[in-house]
Amino acid sequence: MAKSMNLLQITPQEFIAFLKNENITRFYFVYDAKNKIVRSSHKQLQQIAEFIQSDKRDFMTHEGIFIQVSRKYDILQGAFIHRTKRGQAAGGVRYWNYNTVEDYLRDGLRLAVGMTMKNALAGLWWGGGKGVMAHNPTVDKNNPIIRASIYQEFGELMTSIHGCYVTAEDVGTDVTDMVNVFAKTRFTTCIPLRLGGSGNPSVPTARGIISGMEAAIEFLEMGTLAGKTIAVQGMGHVASPLIKYLFEKEVKKVIACEINPYIIKEVKEIVIGCNLEAKIVSLDDLSIFQSECDIFAPCATGAILNPTTIPMIKAKIICGAANNQLEDSQRDDKMLYERGIVYVPDFLTNRMGIVNCANEQYGYVRNDPFIEQHLTKEWEYSIYQIALKVLKESRNTHTPPGEVALRLANELSLQNHPIFGHRGQSVVDSLVASQWHKRTTAD
Ligand code: NAD
Repeated sequence: MAKSMNLLQITPQEFIAFLKNENITRFYFVYDAKNKIVRSSHKQLQQIAEFIQSDKRDFMTHEGIFIQVSRKYDILQGAFIHRTKRGQAAGGVRYWNYNTVEDYLRDGLRLAVGMTMKNALAGLWWGGGKGVMAHNPTVDKNNPIIRASIYQEFGELMTSIHGCYVTAEDVGTDVTDMVNVFAKTRFTTCIPLRLGGSGNPSVPTARGIISGMEAAIEFLEMGTLAGKTIAVQGMGHVASPLIKYLFEKEVKKVIACEINPYIIKEVKEIVIGCNLEAKIVSLDDLSIFQSECDIFAPCATGAILNPTTIPMIKAKIICGAANNQLEDSQRDDKMLYERGIVYVPDFLTNRMGIVNCANEQYGYVRNDPFIEQHLTKEWEYSIYQIALKVLKESRNTHTPPGEVALRLANELSLQNHPIFGHRGQSVVDSLVASQWHKRTTAD
C-alpha cells in the first residue's frame, strides 16, 4: 500500500499515520553535492527525495531538511537548511496550516531560500534556513499547555541538529513560544528581554523602511520625504512607528487603512494633530492601492502586489515591511518595472527583524553600531546603500529590481564565513554520519 501511495498529496496528518506505521519518528533529506542527488534517511521516503530533487521551483540544492513528528500532538516539525556558507542557517519558525505534504515541503524550501537571500543582502554572517510546523487541526493550539509542549519539542529538535540551524520568531509563533523553545535549546534567538534577548524588532524594522524610502526618493531625484504623501496598508507593530517617523520627517499626509478599529484608535493617539487619514477596511478592500500618493507602503500581509492590484497603483514608489509582497516574484517584479513604479524589494528593506536578533549572543551595546550601521546612509551594506545600488543597476541593465537584488544576494550568499565557513554543512554531514534519524532523545 505504501508503495502506491502518493506521499506528497496526502495531508500532514495522513502522512504522520503513514510514518507511524513505518516506525519512523525522525527523517531527513540531504543534498549530496558531489553526486548531485538528494539522499533520504529512509527508503520508504525515496519518493519524496525524488520529488525534491526534480523540483525546479522551490528546491535550490538545500543542504538539509530534518523533520520529526512531535511525540505528544502529532505535529510535523521541520528544520529547512538552505545554504550555510556565510554561517549557520538562521530564520524564524512558522506554525501554519498545510493541506498537503507537498505544500508543507514547498513552504519550508521557499522560506529557507528567502532567509539566505535576506541575510546575505544584509551583510550578516549567517546562512539561510527556516523552521516549519504543520498544525494538527485536532489540537487546540490556543491552549497554553499544549503550545508549551509543541514549542519545547521544537526546541529539542533544534538541540538534536546541533546548531546547523538557529531558529527565531515567525508567523504563527510569539515571544512566549520562544521562551518554550529556549527552555530546550541554546540554538534560538528572539527570546524576551528578561531572558537576555533583543526584544521587539518592530521599531528598527520601521526605521529600515524609512531608509528604503529615502533611497528610492534619492534615486528618483524627488528631494526628501518632506511634503510627500504616503499610503500605508496595515497599522500594526511596524506601521505604527513607521507612521510616527514619517510625520517626524515632515510628510504632508499619511493615508492608512486597517481592518482592526482598535488599532486605528491607538495609532491616532500617537500622532495627534498630524495629517493622518485612517480608514477601517474589510480584508478584501483594495481602495488603498488607488490612493493618490508618492509612496505606497505595504505593512499588512504578503502577495498583495499582483495583476489585479498593480494596475491600480498611483504611487511612484513601493516600499514597505510586509514579507513576500509580490504574489509571483518574477511576474509581478516585471509588471511593476514595466509600469515604471520603483519597487524596493521587501527582503532588502524589512531586514531589521533578523538584524535585530541574529547576533544576540554577542551582547548588547546602547545604540549598537553593528545594528545602527544598517540604518545609516554610509555603510556599504546599509539598507540605503544596497537599495540605491539595486535600483541603479536595475535601471542600467533594464532588469526589474527584485531580480537584481536576488542576483546580488545570491553572490553574497556564496561567500564563506571568515572563520566558520560552511560550518553548517559540516554539522549536516556529521548528523548523517551519526545516524540522527535513529536517535530518539534530544541529543
Ligand atoms: P502586525 O500583525 O502587527 O500588523 C499587521 C496589521 O495589518 C494588523 O494590524 C492587521 O490587522 C492589518 N491587516 C491585515 N490585513 C489587512 C488588510 N487587508 N488591510 C488593512 N490592514 C490589514 O504585523 P507587523 O509586525 O506590523 O508586520 C507587518 C508585516 O511586516 C508582516 O507581513 C510581517 O511579516 C512583516 N515584517 C515584520 C517585521 C517586524 O519586525 N515585526 C520584520 C520583517 C517583516
